[in-house]
Order: sequence, then C-alpha cells, then structure tokens
Amino acid sequence: MKKYIMVIDEGTTGTRALIYNKKFEIVSQSYVEFMQYTPAEDKVEHDAVEIYEKTIDRCKDAMERAGITADDIAAIGITNQRATCVVWDKNTGKPLYHAIVWQDSRTAVDCNEINESGMGEKVRKRTGWTVGPVYTSMMMKWYLDNVPEIKKAVEAGDALMGTIDTWLIWNLTGGKVHAVSYSNASVMGSYDLTTGDWYQEFLDYLGIPVSIYPEVRDDSGDFGSTDPELFGAPIPITSAIADQHAALFAQGCTKGGSGKITNGTGSFLDINVGSNLLISDEGLDTVIAWKIGDQINYALEGYESVTGSAIQWLRDGIQIITESPETEEMAYSVEDSNGVVFIPALAGLRAPFHKPLARGTITGITRGTTRAHIARATLEGIVYRLKDILDAVERESKVPMSDIRIDGGASKNNFLAQTLSDMLNATVKRPLFVEATSLGAAELAGLHVGFWTMEEFENAMEVDREFTPQISEEERKERYEKWVALIEKSF
Ligand code: ADP
Repeated sequence: MKKYIMVIDEGTTGTRALIYNKKFEIVSQSYVEFMQYTPAEDKVEHDAVEIYEKTIDRCKDAMERAGITADDIAAIGITNQRATCVVWDKNTGKPLYHAIVWQDSRTAVDCNEINESGMGEKVRKRTGWTVGPVYTSMMMKWYLDNVPEIKKAVEAGDALMGTIDTWLIWNLTGGKVHAVSYSNASVMGSYDLTTGDWYQEFLDYLGIPVSIYPEVRDDSGDFGSTDPELFGAPIPITSAIADQHAALFAQGCTKGGSGKITNGTGSFLDINVGSNLLISDEGLDTVIAWKIGDQINYALEGYESVTGSAIQWLRDGIQIITESPETEEMAYSVEDSNGVVFIPALAGLRAPFHKPLARGTITGITRGTTRAHIARATLEGIVYRLKDILDAVERESKVPMSDIRIDGGASKNNFLAQTLSDMLNATVKRPLFVEATSLGAAELAGLHVGFWTMEEFENAMEVDREFTPQISEEERKERYEKWVALIEKSF
C-alpha cells in the first residue's frame, strides 16, 4: 500500500522536496538554495542543471528522512516558479544557455515597442497578460537573437523549450515526456486563452517555431513516470501546477467567487472566476487556475511587489523597528494613524495602476507623529493597496468577494488580517498551516491516482483564525476615499 505523496516545490531561490501522508501532514522535507546569477542590472539567470541535480538530491534526502523508498510513494506533484525559460538540446539533454528567470527585464525595450505598435493590445486580449519581460516567449526571442547555438539548434530541430516544470518532467522521465501544465502554459505569454492552443500568430511574429513548445496537459494528470534508475523504482508524476495556482487550490478556492491573498515580500491576489474566460480591462492578469479533466478554471490575478518588504524597509531602511512582527503591537498601541498615510510605492505601483515610476509617499506628519503611527500607516497602506486590486476584480467579475483566504509570512500579523477584513468587507480566514503551495501540488497529484478525493480536501487546511469586519460602511468609505485622493500623488 502506497502511503505517501512526494512534492517538488521549485521556488525562485531554492528547491524543496516534501513528503505528505494521507492526513495531509508533512512527514519530512528537505531544502537547499540554488545560485542566482545576475550578470547585469536587468538580468537574472539560473543554472537549470543545478536545479535538476539539487531536486534529485532533495527528493532522496526527504525519502531518507522519512525512512521510506520509492515503492511507498503513490505519486509526485510539482509546483514551480512561473514563466522562467529553459532551452536545451534534446539529443544531449544539456541546456544551451542559463535559464532566464521571471524577474529578468532584459526584454523591456522590445516589449515597449510591441505595446506601442498596437500589437500589444491584440496579444493581451489573447494571452490575458500585458506584454512584458515576464513573457517566456519574449525570453525565447531573446535567445534566438542573441545566442547563436540556440538559433542553430532550433533551426536543426534539436532544441526543446519549456518552463522549469517542463524541464524537470523531461529529465525525471528520462527524456520521454515534453509537457507543460495548463496553469504554467497560461503565464508563458504565448498561450491563446481564446482558442485553447499556442498562439501561432504571435509566435510567427516573434519568429519562434511552435514545434519547440511542449504539449499542454491537465494540471492533475499524467506526466509520465520517473526513470526507474533515479529513485530505485518508477514513481508516477501526476501534477504540475504553478505556485500561485497551487496555493489557490490548497486554500479551498475551487469555485468561482473565492480567492486568496499571499502576503510575502510582495502580495499576490488570485481570485477564481469560474469556468468562463474573462480577460481583464481593469489592469489585472487572466490565468488558467488549473484544468482537471473536463473542468477548466480561470483566475484574475493582481500583484504588488512591495508589501511585506515595506515592513522590511521600516526595519532596515529607516530603522524604526527591529523585527517585522513588532509592527502588530505598535499598530494596536495607537487609536489610529493620527492622520498619517503611507503609500508604499517603494518600487512603483503595479496592479491595477501599472505606474513603474511611482514613488512612495508619507503624508500627514505632525509633531505628534510617532513610530507607532508610521508602523500603523504602513500596515494600513498595504491593506489599501490590496483593496485597490480587489475592487478592480469585483468591478470586472461583478461578483462581490465575501470570503478571502490569506497566507504568506506577513499574514501572521493580526492587525493586518483584521484591517483587511474591515476594509475589504469580507470574512478573512487564515490557516494554521501556511505551506499552501506544496499542499496544492500534493492534492492534485493525489487526486489523479485516487489517493484522495475532492471531498477530503475540504478538511485539509485547518483554519487558525477567522477575522470579520468590525467597522461601518461609512467609516470604510471615508478611510478609502482619503487614500484614493492621495494615491495619484505618488504616480
Ligand atoms: P517570501 O515567501 O516572499 O520570501 P514570506 O512569506 O516568508 O516571504 O514573508 C516574509 C515577509 O513578510 C517579509 O517581508 C517580512 O517583513 C514580512 N513579515 C513577516 N512576519 C511579519 C509580521 N508578523 N508582521 C508584518 N510583516 C511580517
């Protein structure tokens, strides 16, 4: 009887393997960082071989720590950093260049040109994302223009491309499966959401042959089995899902109108909008949340890069706190922010404004302003930014969001969670256990092999605390109107 599911959680800075038992408990895990290559200000790269080798080591280590073998594992699930591009030679199995990471901005000038030409708007309406350096297809074009070995291999029909999930699956299966999941495909900037296929016209425009692209498969489905030599016995790979999508699934947001906010150094807001495609006109991105069998689910996504990192700035920049969690007590120690408003646009403003040159502002400072007021205004500023995004989702989807799940390090802050509930006018639920990303990949892998059923997932995440709105509609309106009036100043 196979008693475990193994998850490969491939983040941007490190790789983790986890073993889950039937009760959704992590019985062992193993983590290691990998190298970040930054050859220039606008470039971030990874060594795909290092990632693969470290993944295998971590899997073996996690199995050893749990005292189990490959025969005890029912399936493997993969969750990964999205959009990062790898190109390799299918004969040698070797990457032809470093992987270009989703944070890289080397194609910014080309992207601007496309957006200014009118092509950008056409592409956005098909792919669900504004053309930008995060597009895997733009990275692929950069390879073709700048790396002669890649151009040659593509022309000779020897090259394959994919995101990190694709690369891992290809290697784990001994080169038998070249596939990507729907969730990952939908953030590659070359998947046409309106036809459900690779976006041929845009690939032709970029000069990329579609033949190097992977086959798109269900997020909970068959991705082949691991080469028997790797772990001593073959293990089926039955899920591959992008990180934010995995967290959305694990948080129980499986139906339209439910959503989650991940508050880490930045915040990702993902709202499941059901099975009807909805391309945003409000500055949000549309993604495929997942496809399971016949069922496809779309999500609207909004991202802000500075939220938890604004708290880090209080600690490391202006040094008015020594640890992030202190901000909770400081915020509660004062009745209000005493008129101080902090717009944390420390690296520009993202969804739904998209003002990369916006700058942070602190207004309303008097002689009575204390560190506590600034700490409180920072946490409130994070909440107002999330309200900016959620309001755009509501305008677009026309569905009021009354139930929000939160995860990520900064969600541990009770003042932040309560203010979110107050300002979003929603019940905010925080799980006890916040490893939502890996849990989602485990669930989808287990689902495919009959290890778990959908019904069992309802109890997989224990709620630690539920926050309900404690302010009147009048107060909510008044506070937010003040914010709206000030935010344009930061543009
Ligand atoms: P990531 O996965 O993005 O690296 P985490 O989910 O680990 O980030 O969250 C870390 C971020 O959350 C940091 O920016 C930190 O300042 C912030 N943070 C952590 N704990 C708290 C807290 N109790 N109150 C406010 N911010 C916090």
